[in-house]
Amino acid sequence: MGNKNFETNAIRTQTERSQFSEHSTPLYLTSSFVFEDAEEMRASFSEEKQRNVYSRYANPNTSEFIEKICQMEGAEAGHAFASGMSAVFSTFAALLNAGDHMVSVRSVFGSTHGLFTKFLPKWNINTSYFDINDIESVAQLIQPNTKILYAESPTNPAVDILDLERLGEITKQHNLILVIDNCFATPYLQNPIKFGADLVIHSATKLIDGQGRVLGGITVGRADLIREIYLFSRNTGPALSPFNAWVLSKSLETLAVRVDKHCENAMKVAEFLESHAKINVVKYPFLKSHPNYKIAKKQMKLGGNVVAFEVKGGIDAGRQFLDGIKLCSLSANLGDTRTIVTHPASTTHSKLSEEDRMEVGISDGLVRISVGLEAVEDVINDLKQALSQL
Ligand SMILES: *Cc1c(COP(=O)(O)O)cnc(C)c1O
Repeated sequence: MGNKNFETNAIRTQTERSQFSEHSTPLYLTSSFVFEDAEEMRASFSEEKQRNVYSRYANPNTSEFIEKICQMEGAEAGHAFASGMSAVFSTFAALLNAGDHMVSVRSVFGSTHGLFTKFLPKWNINTSYFDINDIESVAQLIQPNTKILYAESPTNPAVDILDLERLGEITKQHNLILVIDNCFATPYLQNPIKFGADLVIHSATKLIDGQGRVLGGITVGRADLIREIYLFSRNTGPALSPFNAWVLSKSLETLAVRVDKHCENAMKVAEFLESHAKINVVKYPFLKSHPNYKIAKKQMKLGGNVVAFEVKGGIDAGRQFLDGIKLCSLSANLGDTRTIVTHPASTTHSKLSEEDRMEVGISDGLVRISVGLEAVEDVINDLKQALSQL
């Protein structure tokens, strides 16, 4: 199956079919599975026999979801989680020992930043940060106990791009494990394993679900590392529910067409914003003005659905702009069919000082827009009328 095209695999991969011969994979809402006899039960628990035992370990719906993402990312194995953050945490918790060290890009998803600064230090696991524009500084941050190099690209919320191939080279040179959060790109737009990543993490809550319904997460990559992550998760219980796995696996059938349209709409929104007098900077990976346009073109199929821009007039103008929005949603999510607008400086990153915000590329006027699947003219008209009030 794995050698077929992306869309075909996404639609035709079906790991289970019951005696009813259903065309569309059914939902297996069961917490456990039964055994014929004592010997089958013994073999299943000792893992001599690969089969479903208990839905905390595996379930037909989660297995199908994992299989599809593995094919899409070119990964050997994977494990699914209740949310993107449980995938991030379980990956670190499984692979790191007390006293280990990580190197990460400075601008990472807010809760991942919280994990690095507030929780992993409880186990004496510390993280050093490199600047998005200074990838070569990674080498100086590596210590004898450094185990993981961590990054996101594109980044949230400033939509910066990191050179994944260069990160792959550095990882190899220093014998680290490269973990990439590929949430903003989805497996359709970018495959970090091709550039040397050992593990790829997704919050499936975003474009993979794509309709703002369920939480989910997944880590895929090297089989030996996934084995460790699986054993940790089997014992600690951050399992993806069969229902959410079923929803997400269905969503993957339409990922390519949805993301194509998201990107087409986002490009039009980015071009509109770039031409507007009340806007300072627009950041979208496939705009020629993006500082890392060439790298984005090299490693991504299309530019994604998130556009960052800066309204003139700082924090007040940013808030005023949001108040003027009528059609788009003010919401914390992204990757939904509905266009979502956020103002990081007054919301998700309000606890950071202005200086700290600037370090991760969040100016006071920065607005992040996750472009949805509405008619793009309507989205642009909404932005236009909100800007006219400034
Ligand atoms: C949303 C997000 C996460 C966390 O995912 P949840 O499903 O909300 O737990 C992690 N990384 C990135 C880049 C995200 O956007």
